[in-house]
Amino acid sequence: MNLELVFVLVGTTHSGNIGAAARAIKNMGFAELRLVDCCSHMTKDAFARASGADGILKEAKRFDTLDAAVADCHNVIGSSARDRYIAVPVVACREVAESLVVAASNAGDAQRAAMVFGRERTGLSNDEMERCTRLLRIPVNPEFSSLNLGAAVQVVAYECAMAMNSVSMNSSGVTAAAEPAPVASGEAMQHFYEHLRRVMINTGFLDADNPRNLMRRIRSYFERNRPTDTELNILRGILSATEKPFPPKNTLKSDD
Ligand code: SAH
Repeated sequence: MNLELVFVLVGTTHSGNIGAAARAIKNMGFAELRLVDCCSHMTKDAFARASGADGILKEAKRFDTLDAAVADCHNVIGSSARDRYIAVPVVACREVAESLVVAASNAGDAQRAAMVFGRERTGLSNDEMERCTRLLRIPVNPEFSSLNLGAAVQVVAYECAMAMNSVSMNSSGVTAAAEPAPVASGEAMQHFYEHLRRVMINTGFLDADNPRNLMRRIRSYFERNRPTDTELNILRGILSATEKPFPPKNTLKSDD
């Protein structure tokens, strides 16, 4: 399964917004920016807002029309801040991202999708929206629904990256989340509880004749948050340190 995303800006008038989009794309592990009828993108402002995502800016490809920019894409997703009376279905951003991932995993060969963003003042034209397979909406305050262009690119890129990671897909340059480290075994936990109990009794914190619910509560806490082997070693190390007869190098009073 292979899904590649390209981000397409249409008619952008502030080069800073192109830089912000480049930054957002790179932050989420994507790489390709296409510009349709945009202002110059090799400006001081653009590089300042790109904040180091210079490669994406420099390699951005310029096109005269949206058709030319998305000619090699299987899906074209337009993003729109407000309702327009056109036939293309409008779907929430997260759902679109998830459905692109599902479609790509069902397709045999590589799929390329274009995520298209409109002009700062007027968004995408009706003609441009009709060129899209679907429209996406970032759910926001209905009375204040228009995000800054760079912010919209960030949210869409984030949702796409999350959807792609959730099915462990790694082929678009997005790094799959690392597997969580395995937690300590039941046996290791048992040794820890015995050790902890011994230290609590020897320090006078736990009265062995009247233990109440203390051990049960502690156990329940650690079972809900079972440590990894490394973390358990640290805890055992702390307990052992309290049992050593050596004086510590430095001491702190309780209010230090
Ligand atoms: N005033 C324009 C919005 C321009 S914002 C209008 O009303 O259409 C620039 C671009 O950012 C939009 O064309 C769209 O691609 C994207 N965008 C901003 N807010 C969005 C939202 N809530 N959902 C989806 N896309 C959004």
